[in-house]
Amino acid sequence: MSEDWFEDELPWLGPPPQLLPHREQSPSGTVRRPLRRLPTGMPAGSVSASAAAVSYPTERASLRLPAPAVPPYVRTPQPRRYGELVALKWVGVLLILLAALTAFALIVRDIRSNSESTPQPTAQLVIPAAGGSSGGDAAAAIVPNAAFAGKVICLDAAHGGIDRGFRRTGDSSAPAMDEALYTAAYARELADQLAAMGFTVVLTRDGDTVRNTEFADVNRDGQTRENGASDADAQHNALLDEMQSRIDYCNDEKADLLISIHFDGSNDPNVSGSSTWYADGRADSADSQRLAELIEQQLTQGLSAAGYAVANDGAQPESGALTRGTQMLYDSRYMITGARDGLKEPSRMPGVIADLLTISNASDAQLLASEAGREAIVTAMAQAIGDYFTGTTAQG
Ligand SMILES: [Zn+2]
Repeated sequence: MSEDWFEDELPWLGPPPQLLPHREQSPSGTVRRPLRRLPTGMPAGSVSASAAAVSYPTERASLRLPAPAVPPYVRTPQPRRYGELVALKWVGVLLILLAALTAFALIVRDIRSNSESTPQPTAQLVIPAAGGSSGGDAAAAIVPNAAFAGKVICLDAAHGGIDRGFRRTGDSSAPAMDEALYTAAYARELADQLAAMGFTVVLTRDGDTVRNTEFADVNRDGQTRENGASDADAQHNALLDEMQSRIDYCNDEKADLLISIHFDGSNDPNVSGSSTWYADGRADSADSQRLAELIEQQLTQGLSAAGYAVANDGAQPESGALTRGTQMLYDSRYMITGARDGLKEPSRMPGVIADLLTISNASDAQLLASEAGREAIVTAMAQAIGDYFTGTTAQG
């Protein structure tokens, strides 16, 4: 590039940049060019303010005029140092700003990726409000039983939040369903019926949410969603904390019984039916088993009476799930087991995990999604819980 080019371009530059002629502030080459006029030894890039001062000798011309008699050791003019300091200060400020912006961008990205990774339920289902009318028909006809007064049932609508449980896509035989949404709806209706029977009911979650919304380290094992070694590990940490949070709630409410509501799911569309799990090896295992058997019996009888023949896997000991390899139950079992595998405080009352039919099976899903099916299943559950407290044992 010639000097002519420089002279031609110079007028277009306008006034010199103020102290911080960042490269982006001027066309490439125009600001850097005057740097060549600086005394040698000046590090390029860190003295751009001085460079600006040098290249536009209007206001600061006097700063560049060392007297001939001045000894060499004062050759570096003080104002230029001041300029350097100011420039460095602004570079520092810029770096801090850049760091702050980067941190902000990362936080925003994290928040956005969290919300994006939260699958939106494809299933459309309105969760009945407390005391809602959809479950009211059955509940309205129920006469409260004085024997149930003061008995506390802790109802757990399994899954929730980012944990959607088993999901099915809609097809010609049944709608799209997601377990987390359906467990919440069924738990809500069962709560209404049990309350009408005279029970006190507490729900571990009410609505399509979770209990441990802050992802706190509820089981105090030092592991949360934030420090998982992998995504699966982080999910597992969060799940343990969520489970502990729900168990703590049932314990705090001094519940007499814990019912965790699930629906089964399988990759095999032919697998269908219900199964109810109880924890073996606990002091209260016999009570839990009796409840599990009552639930399976009432489900079969109640659905049969309503005109539905469904498969029944019966009451199953939770330890059997491990050998059977029932993956869906694997993490959910914490609700009813003893303290182990990172769970610090087990539930202090008998309890079951009820897999109410199988949503991956078309005919089960159709039944679950229907109002009649829901009422039959919820009524069967309420009947079984009532039977449990009146000391009934399942027949056969
Ligand atoms: Zn489940």
